[in-house]
Amino acid sequence: MPQPVTYRGMALIVPDNDSEWKEYFAHARQHRLMLRACKACGLMRYPPTHACPWCMDLGWTWKEVSGRGTIYSYEVVHHAIQPGFKDATPYGVVLVELDEQRGQPTADEGLRIIGNLVKPDGVSFEDDTQVAIGKRVRVVFQDLAEHMALVQFALSDEAPPGHVWRLPE
Ligand SMILES: [Zn+2]
Repeated sequence: MPQPVTYRGMALIVPDNDSEWKEYFAHARQHRLMLRACKACGLMRYPPTHACPWCMDLGWTWKEVSGRGTIYSYEVVHHAIQPGFKDATPYGVVLVELDEQRGQPTADEGLRIIGNLVKPDGVSFEDDTQVAIGKRVRVVFQDLAEHMALVQFALSDEAPPGHVWRLPE
């Protein structure tokens, strides 16, 4: 059994036979955002599944991405389901479209990763009023243990490439 990692009062356990997530979190602990890329068609995917969702091939390799992207969608959590998040509310959860592989394999596709919008320290939550579609972000890693870090996102100082939008108050 792997050692449980505690995060906000919850035990995070990645089973030893769950190689996709175990390796993903271990790469994150090295502060590298690594995704699985298909050996047949070359496309990356997230989550890091065994089979390619585009061509079904079972061959893959880890590939590093920049971790830079744009907020594609978001939500603001006002009522925490887990008690450990109660003191953090309201906080933003962002769906980030990475710069790599935008518009592939179709015009509407992209590599999209979900995370919390945090401050550059990778730990504290960003002010929820700062969450908006179209803002630029960069990956930050929240170290939890020797073998595990969470992938989170912080606002970058880059200008938004297009329209910025958030739900009116
Ligand atoms: Zn493929």
